[in-house]
Amino acid sequence: MSAHAAVTRPSPQELRGAALEYASMGIPVLPVRGKLPAIPAAHQPGDPLYQQCKGECGDLGHGVHDATTDLAQVRQLWDQWPQANVGLRTGVLFDVIDVDGQQGRDSLARFLADHGGGRPIGGPRVHTGSGGWHLYVTPTGLPDHIGVLQSVDYRAADRYVVAPPSRHPVSGRRYLWVPGRGLDTPLGEVPQVLRERLTPRPVGRDHQPAATLRPAQPGHPYGRAVLEAEIARIAGARPPGPGRGGERNQVLWEAARNLYNLVAGGVLDQAEVTAELERAAGTCGLLRDEPRQTMRTLASARQVGLAHPRGIPDRPTTGGRGRDRPRQQDASHHQPFQPRRRDPDRARER
Ligand SMILES: [Zn+2]
Repeated sequence: MSAHAAVTRPSPQELRGAALEYASMGIPVLPVRGKLPAIPAAHQPGDPLYQQCKGECGDLGHGVHDATTDLAQVRQLWDQWPQANVGLRTGVLFDVIDVDGQQGRDSLARFLADHGGGRPIGGPRVHTGSGGWHLYVTPTGLPDHIGVLQSVDYRAADRYVVAPPSRHPVSGRRYLWVPGRGLDTPLGEVPQVLRERLTPRPVGRDHQPAATLRPAQPGHPYGRAVLEAEIARIAGARPPGPGRGGERNQVLWEAARNLYNLVAGGVLDQAEVTAELERAAGTCGLLRDEPRQTMRTLASARQVGLAHPRGIPDRPTTGGRGRDRPRQQDASHHQPFQPRRRDPDRARER
């Protein structure tokens, strides 16, 4: 590929053709504008599903979760966004070591010289539009890691990379497969020393659930009290009326997520929570009025809630301020890389 081709804007036919080719290899693809998803987000701040839903609602607009291998859908997507760059989901058929510019190349070379005997990492390789590399490697199952080395990121599950023949939004240069190192090359392997860096430590980034959990058996009085309070909250949620929307769906989602947090923490029994939630959704009329949406809401809350275990608060709440009401904010709202500790007791103080 000549230098001239590298700065020529890829045609819609090229982009669409590449997207279809990747998808037909079983690689989930998504349209990206520059480096960001082209499909507008399905949920905005204020929507209870914002940053929670991963497509369970059935709509597009969930970032990497829109990625698909369905050729008909890929055609539709590039009909709608013909200039879109091609994003490839990582963590499925491959992970990607994302080496940013000359600084990243130097830092990777130094690391491999110091620890890996200087052996380069093989496998498919992309020359990125910013002068760095994407190294395609066998998936490790390890989580993504921003800054695993200086100017080097690791892209794994729930991430994506921009792929050839996309055009870099700043430099205007194309992403190009390094000659002889296309996707027909066997994947590279993550060297053991780098793998160790990628393995999460028991203490650190991943500290939040363990630090706040106290083990408990299902049937603990705290769990019973929260279950009763949340079920009562759903049953009392307001249906839509003249001049105002209802709050039932949002209340149901929050209450269900809170309860499944406690299921994940071992405090409540999952079958009981599911049965009680469905009963409450019937009592408040939601199941009758919006059966499909209601079941989707419950499925989404279950998935999010179970992913964020919560136990009994470290110090039981005291003082006679009535029923212990679960907080609406909890760990499942945290941004992935900026965990914010919350303390239910402190949050209660005025
Ligand atoms: Zn959604």
